[in-house]
Amino acid sequence: MTAPRILVLGTGGTIAGAGAAGTGSAYRPGGLALEVLIDHLAALGLAAQLVPQEIARIGSQDMGWPQWQALHAACTAALADPAVDGVIVTHGTDTAEETGFLLDLTLPATKPIVLVGAMRAADAVGADGMRNFANAVKVASDPAAGGRGVMLVMGDAVLAARDARKAATSAIDAFRTFPRGPLARVTPSSLDWFAPPHRLGEGARYPFPTELPRVAILTAGAGMDAKPVEALLGIGARGIVLAGMGQGNAPRVVLEALAACAASGVPVVRAARVDEGIVDRNVEVDDDTLGLVAARALGPAKARMLLMVLVANGITDAGAVQAAFDG
Ligand code: ASP
Repeated sequence: MTAPRILVLGTGGTIAGAGAAGTGSAYRPGGLALEVLIDHLAALGLAAQLVPQEIARIGSQDMGWPQWQALHAACTAALADPAVDGVIVTHGTDTAEETGFLLDLTLPATKPIVLVGAMRAADAVGADGMRNFANAVKVASDPAAGGRGVMLVMGDAVLAARDARKAATSAIDAFRTFPRGPLARVTPSSLDWFAPPHRLGEGARYPFPTELPRVAILTAGAGMDAKPVEALLGIGARGIVLAGMGQGNAPRVVLEALAACAASGVPVVRAARVDEGIVDRNVEVDDDTLGLVAARALGPAKARMLLMVLVANGITDAGAVQAAFDG
């Protein structure tokens, strides 16, 4: 049997981070070339053929439209190429959930597409990147990994991009997954899926946009007024995600201003600034009357990605936006 051929798209991040000293804390994300990372991994003797393609060498805090376009194009080409079995994207952890979710929304769920990152720079003592990378190779090489949407491999777990969320600034175990638990447990030598693939043969959920509209996240705080809402409209926001208190709440004046946005054709989605949990319709906020949308299980960062994709595809009606968040 020939070894699986895996396209490795490098973007930088801590997994490719290089520091001045192995025991220091300062480092430069993306300081290490993708080829060097792959050489290190190949030396471990993996049963896969890794084909590198560098997209960027940045910290993922700088990830944006040009890199997303390049990643989407490279993944699309790989999905169409019968010689490629799977794709790994090395990525910073700060925005891995955003990139992963954007690709998940706009690519067919056929071959495995796996994001992988690290919390410690490649040359730091106790670096986690090589193990995460080896785990990602294990996942991307497995034919049973297809049909599950885009995934994130961190800390011996395989998470669905839709559910994954960075919840710690520096701990190795930095990601949580909600509302579903992990899809699988992985080590460099074992892979155990917890359920069969649920998206087999599914096409892209949305066309990849030709541009991303400005969608802003507004974090609610006690005692705030409606001025920030006015400011967002003033800079041309075409959608607003509220990172609300509790179940997506905000002071009455803010909700009234957001309702006015919705009435003027700027969709407003209520998410929660709380770490985890569902935001449902019409609990404390009367979404039906105010014309607002409830983010359900998506936190603010991912709600923003989905709303950008929806607005870019001309979906702005509150009912249609709610249906997308319900899905
Ligand atoms: N700031 C880094 C990045 O997102 C953090 C990391 O990769 O863990 O690129």
